[in-house]
Amino acid sequence: ESYSRIKDVDGKVQAFLTLDEENAWKKADELDAKLARGEAKGPLFGMPIGIKDNIVTKGLRTTCASKILDNFDPIYDATVMERLQQNETITIGKLNMDEFAMGSSTENSAFQKTANPWDLTAVPGGSSGGSAAAVAAGEVPFSLGSDTGGSIRQPASYCGVVGMKPTYGRVSRYGLVAFASSLDQIGPITRNVEDNAYLLQAIAGIDPMDGTSAHIEVPDFTKALTGDIKGLKIAVPKEYLGEGVSPEVRQSVLDSLKVLESLGASYEEVSLPHSKYALSTYYILSSSEASANLSRFDGVRYGHRTENAENLLEMYKKTRAEGFGEEVKRRIMLGTFALSSGYYDAYYKKAQKVRTLIKNDFEKVFDQYDVIVGPTAPTPAFKMGENTKDPLTMYANDILTIPVNLAGVPGISVPNGFSNGLPLGLQIIGKHFDESTVYKVAHAFE
Ligand code: GLN
Repeated sequence: ESYSRIKDVDGKVQAFLTLDEENAWKKADELDAKLARGEAKGPLFGMPIGIKDNIVTKGLRTTCASKILDNFDPIYDATVMERLQQNETITIGKLNMDEFAMGSSTENSAFQKTANPWDLTAVPGGSSGGSAAAVAAGEVPFSLGSDTGGSIRQPASYCGVVGMKPTYGRVSRYGLVAFASSLDQIGPITRNVEDNAYLLQAIAGIDPMDGTSAHIEVPDFTKALTGDIKGLKIAVPKEYLGEGVSPEVRQSVLDSLKVLESLGASYEEVSLPHSKYALSTYYILSSSEASANLSRFDGVRYGHRTENAENLLEMYKKTRAEGFGEEVKRRIMLGTFALSSGYYDAYYKKAQKVRTLIKNDFEKVFDQYDVIVGPTAPTPAFKMGENTKDPLTMYANDILTIPVNLAGVPGISVPNGFSNGLPLGLQIIGKHFDESTVYKVAHAFE
């Protein structure tokens, strides 16, 4: 069913970079045989899933939407892929994204531009734009994305689907091509909250292959889907409804708070005073980490190698000049500068300190409240090409999602109505490792 839908609509949506049709049919036959033998099956048995193209899949081309990895066939599976296999899902293919997950519109892909299924002239968001668009277009019911500064939640919001960024450390990053290792998390994108909870359940948990994966028990997330949020205390940061947030987005959040109140929750305005520094802090830290992480693409070990180099140094330089796109180069330069001696204290170290202040803001609020609620993005999806000339306007799109990554807490985007035919998202943010309460509120709301 997925493949016939992909054939019908992917010419327009352009969500998939690579399909894995032969293996998928093989897997489906295997599962059919298992079913016929009456062998045990879980909730995800036989479910078609699409995978963001920065998650490595054994033998299946993994490009990060970059020319530098155009022909990269990994020799191992990411931990999340192994977990999916244990849960007997069927991998349909690999999904488009901004190159190396740097962007908010999927327009930075080296290969194609994915369209928003609700309006083909609008962007699907990013960087997991392919993952969100494929679910919204009905091509797959499940997908995996990655979120460093909003890349699961913002495209989920733009495409009207459910996207969860779990707590940092909840899901193994082994086999996720690193962008900013202290911020990156893999998470599920689905049509509804229940599916989302099942998918996170399948991929979460300790992994000896990832030193930052948390030694914390994974609860049964579906137990939280009771619909009962009586007595729950919601904090609404005034910084999330202020300047830059469009009136229709603000109104949709205020309306949703009334809905949550009618279900028995209460809400109050709070302040996250360091929010205004989040964007600059994020771009210093994430670019610094990226400049280090991307140094491994040198033409020696993987992917593209230039054909016209006279010596080794020239080979490195030309390979990287030919292989990386403009935005990736911009981040590498910014990060290299921020880390360079003489500037380290003024930029990188300072940004680390501000990150702590931002984290403390969240902790203070969570001493008194169960969840934080606000918009996912300041506006609905913008038009393709609208923000490509000005990186700073593009960066500003993530102003409401980035603080969550800096604090390391979980956050979900759930559909919250429409504005001029384009979906809006409601963001629900929880305490560290309390995805259950986030799901509880999201499920009661949807
Ligand atoms: N849009 C943000 C960036 O460009 C976030 C990306 C992400 O979460 N991967 O860095």
